[in-house]
Amino acid sequence: MLAEWSDQFDAFQAEIASVDKKMKGLREFLKVTFERLKPEIAALKKAGTAFNVCAGCGFEAAAVEQVEGMRFEQRCKVCGLGGTYLEIQCPAKCGTTLHIEAEYGSDLTCPTCGGEVTVSDLADVLDTEGYDPTDFHTPINCAYCSSLGSVVQHHEIFICTECLERDVGAPTCEWCNEVQIGGGDLEHSHYTGCEFCDGHAGWMKDD
Ligand SMILES: [Zn+2]
Ligand SMILES: [Zn+2]
Ligand SMILES: [Zn+2]
Ligand SMILES: [Zn+2]
Repeated sequence: MLAEWSDQFDAFQAEIASVDKKMKGLREFLKVTFERLKPEIAALKKAGTAFNVCAGCGFEAAAVEQVEGMRFEQRCKVCGLGGTYLEIQCPAKCGTTLHIEAEYGSDLTCPTCGGEVTVSDLADVLDTEGYDPTDFHTPINCAYCSSLGSVVQHHEIFICTECLERDVGAPTCEWCNEVQIGGGDLEHSHYTGCEFCDGHAGWMKDD
């Protein structure tokens, strides 16, 4: 039995060695790619493109493009890893510029002071429409994460401060009159309802 196990273990070790070798090979390959791209990256930097250190490969090769306001997109020229992030100043005013990945459950901790970015911090900095106290402000819901009133308008887009999903428009449900993102165009919502109601069909069923 032991002999059998040791056989399997040997096979396993060989596999580990081969994975390790492949990883080293991949790192070598990425390094060569980065070296080859250096002049291009330098030229782009000169022309005004910003580059971040890529979380995937560790090289300063992620070309940054401002999408709108505080929202940026980056794609790594070496390994291809891409993503959208929000650039905000640490709300604890420690002077750090934070890059928050624009996706659900992303890290909201400042690496410098350890402060947490709260949902209301995000709403404060992202809401570019502001509040007019004389105006009735309709809360905008998020159907992506089922949060009520969590969405603010940021320039041309609507962004949820809970899950950081975003849409270009925020349509109104024809049945419950709730304004929301993540529910599609709500074209048939009078009948089908939305994330937050069952529409006419649900109402008929209850009756
Ligand atoms: Zn990369
Ligand atoms: Zn901080
Ligand atoms: Zn959401
Ligand atoms: Zn509805």
